[in-house]
Amino acid sequence: MEYADILKTIEQEIKQQKLTGKVANYIPELAKVDPNAFGMHVLCNDGSHFGFGEQHTPFSIQSISKVFMLTLAFKYLEEQEIFKRVGVEPSGDPFNSLIQLEQEKGIPRNPFINAGALVICDILLEVCGNPQAELVKMIQRMADIDKVPINQDVFDSEMKCSQRNQALINFMKSFGNIKHEINEVLTLYTHFCAIELTCAELAGSFTVYAKNGKLSDGTQLITASQTKRINALMQTCGFYDEAGEFSYRIGLPGKSGVGGGIAAVHPNELSVTVWSPPLNKKGNSELGMYALERFTTLSGVSVF
Ligand code: GLU
Repeated sequence: MEYADILKTIEQEIKQQKLTGKVANYIPELAKVDPNAFGMHVLCNDGSHFGFGEQHTPFSIQSISKVFMLTLAFKYLEEQEIFKRVGVEPSGDPFNSLIQLEQEKGIPRNPFINAGALVICDILLEVCGNPQAELVKMIQRMADIDKVPINQDVFDSEMKCSQRNQALINFMKSFGNIKHEINEVLTLYTHFCAIELTCAELAGSFTVYAKNGKLSDGTQLITASQTKRINALMQTCGFYDEAGEFSYRIGLPGKSGVGGGIAAVHPNELSVTVWSPPLNKKGNSELGMYALERFTTLSGVSVF
């Protein structure tokens, strides 16, 4: 089956799906999004692309930005430097959990849970002159786009209710694994979470992970080995405590966010993104998971 036909089939099927998921509301601004919005975009490494629905509507990428944060850190530091402060194991716990941190002495399990991404932000504050501007510029290059907006209302809204992220930073600081001021780390992290991209733009940026670290113009952004590491982490840690289920049902490395977005790649083949705000109990887009499962089933494009 051709990709265009597969997406047509998925578009029909999702209309029949009964949704039980709920739009994230712990960040009040995110609750304002249209729960019926749905977009999907597939970008093949040869440049051909397919999509439907609200594939060109910007949405809050939230935790998907954690992949970009790690990518930027890789541009500055050897992996040993990064991974002495954060692990590479799945957590099996919710994204904002504090539980493991006490037993593991302030070293987060991986860079794709909040604690791990907060450590990466602390590292970026140390190694980059202006991490926020550099991350935005990097995404612009990756997706070949002019603008990467940060939604100020989403940022303000999350800053007002970020007690848990503050607690994570504070706790890790007590173990010496955060070097900057709590507010500085939190502000950077929350700005990154408030980035908005469309499905098409997100698929464009994720091409790098499908192309062994190369941008669309052939320039090497990160090394092939670093890309392998990022994809491995997405595969094992990209979906909160549902990473096993995502591997089982979809079989691609990817990352989700509580804004309802999911970005995934098949190395050497394609990137694929979906956006549908209602989340399942584990915090992943319910319809997004369904659409991606159908995509890999109908196309046979899975790493397993
Ligand atoms: N900004 C969100 C938080 O820290 C990101 C969560 C997510 O998308 O997983 O709670």
